[in-house]
Amino acid sequence: MEALSCELSWDCVGQVARFQFFMNFVRYYPVAGLLFLVVWVWGKRRYIGSRIQQKWPDSGKIWHEIRWSFVTLLVFSSIAIASITMGKAGWNQVYLDFSEFGMGYAVFSLVAVTIWHETWFYWMHRLVHKKPWFKLVHLTHHRSTNPSPFAAYAFNGYEAFLEAIYLPLFTFIVPIHPAVILVHIGYAMIMNIWWHSGYEVFPAGWTRGRITQWINTSTHHNMHHSHFNGNFSLYFNFWDRICGTNFPNYDEYFEGVVARRRASKLARPAAGMEAMQRPAA
Ligand SMILES: [Zn+2]
Ligand SMILES: [Zn+2]
Repeated sequence: MEALSCELSWDCVGQVARFQFFMNFVRYYPVAGLLFLVVWVWGKRRYIGSRIQQKWPDSGKIWHEIRWSFVTLLVFSSIAIASITMGKAGWNQVYLDFSEFGMGYAVFSLVAVTIWHETWFYWMHRLVHKKPWFKLVHLTHHRSTNPSPFAAYAFNGYEAFLEAIYLPLFTFIVPIHPAVILVHIGYAMIMNIWWHSGYEVFPAGWTRGRITQWINTSTHHNMHHSHFNGNFSLYFNFWDRICGTNFPNYDEYFEGVVARRRASKLARPAAGMEAMQRPAA
C-alpha cells in the first residue's frame, strides 16, 4: 500500500515495481495451481464426468502453458508499473480518495470497466484470429487445444500486451479507484482460470435460458480452444450472439457435456452398490 501512496521518484517506482511483480506472481500461480491440484490431480477420477473433453493433454502442453504464463506475468507487471507511475504523474484519472466519488460511482466504474473489457477483448480477439496476426500474436495461446487452468495466461509478449492495455486506456478517460481496479483484476483472473479449467458446472438449459444465455460458460471457451474460429467473447455471450459468431452447435455441445456429467453421477452410486454386493474373494 505504501507503494500506492509514495510521491513520484525513482525510489517510489522501485517500490511499485517490487510490489507489482510480487503481487502478480503470487496472485496467479497459487490460484491456477490450486485448481489444477484439486480438480486435475486429486479429483482426476472423481470429477472425470464433468470434463468437457474426455481426453487429457500431455504434460508438455501443460509446461508450455506454465512457461508462457511467466512471460505474461512479466508483461502484466510492467504495464501495471508504467500505469501506476503515470497516475502518480497525474496523467490518468485514477483517484486515491474513495470519498471523492463515493460508493455509487465505484460500482458504476466497476460495471463500466467490465463492459469495456468485454468489448475490447471480443474485437481484439476476432482481429488476432485473422492473418497475419494469428501466427504472430495468438498462436501461442491456441497451442492448447485442450487447456488446463495454466492456459489462462499462456500468451506471448504481443498478446499479453493486448490483453492488458485496455485497462490503462480506460484510466486515461474514466476516473477509477485502485480498490475497484483490484476487484476487477481479481475476478477477471479467476474467471479466466475457470474458463480454461476444462470442466463444466453449469446446469442443463443454461445456454438457452432467457437470462443465462447471455453469460458465458466454461464450455464456451473450451470449444474455442478445440474448434478455433467461433466463440470469441469473454464474460458475456453478447457480442457473439449479436454478431453471429457463436459456433452453430454451441447449445448441443453444451448439452452433451452436461448429459455426460449427469450420466457419470448416476453411474457412480450404482458402481458402489455393485462393489458392495460382489462376494469377497
Ligand atoms: Zn482465440
Ligand atoms: Zn483461451
